[in-house]
Amino acid sequence: MARKVIAGNWKMNLSQKEGEELVKASNAFVEANPLVHVEVVIAPPYLQLQQAVKYSPTGRVSIAAQNMNENDNGAFTGEISASMLKEIGVELVIIGHSERREILGESDAQIHAKLKKALRSNLYPILCVGEKLEDRKSGNHFKFVQGQLESALEGFSGDELSSLVIAYEPIWAIGTGETASPAQAQEMHAFIRKHIASIYTATLADEISVLYGGSVKPENAKEIFAQPDVDGGLIGGAATKPESFIELIKIGESVLR
Ligand code: PEP
Repeated sequence: MARKVIAGNWKMNLSQKEGEELVKASNAFVEANPLVHVEVVIAPPYLQLQQAVKYSPTGRVSIAAQNMNENDNGAFTGEISASMLKEIGVELVIIGHSERREILGESDAQIHAKLKKALRSNLYPILCVGEKLEDRKSGNHFKFVQGQLESALEGFSGDELSSLVIAYEPIWAIGTGETASPAQAQEMHAFIRKHIASIYTATLADEISVLYGGSVKPENAKEIFAQPDVDGGLIGGAATKPESFIELIKIGESVLR
């Protein structure tokens, strides 16, 4: 069965103080209310990773990086390596977020290399895929997402992918307030699972978590998380405030199975 995950991506938001408060509040909530069904993940900016690890000492809240470089080390000014993340206790890494693909020009080849580095460094990858509005409008969305998956996963064995989490994040729904309908999310998640089953095995397809991302908030999370192929959410805006993030954790715990 796939892991159920509620993951917050802060992007380039929150001061050290705000970040501290959010991790502490999330940690206090999960310590007081041990979760049976969902795992909680927080992805702060690089500069706050160390304090986030410190303020979630039991590991009930796992800490993720929002990115990493695909090389071991060397002359890559401004970059952070997988071993640096591991060294400070980071457990997961988001790879191929659409903002990195679209705004920062990350290529499919780079995303593939990052995925390889994360998997071989025992960092759990959250691989983001998702189409632009024009692909959705022209009906090309399945083909587009399939292409992203094929290029990211090329050459991996099924065994290597057992820790993979995929986040389906339609670009037109990220930070726009517009959400995919529960039916649209379900349809794409089922497609992703079917595609994994066709390249690997049905067992692996069942085990891989497929999260939905794109303007998830407490008001719409229940219906989205209730879809059979939705294993949780990768959440931006609504994960940057303790009340709404904790509310999303509660909804996840009660709905995700
Ligand atoms: C994200 O950051 O991956 C995201 C889905 O953002 P938002 O929830 O704000 O749309």
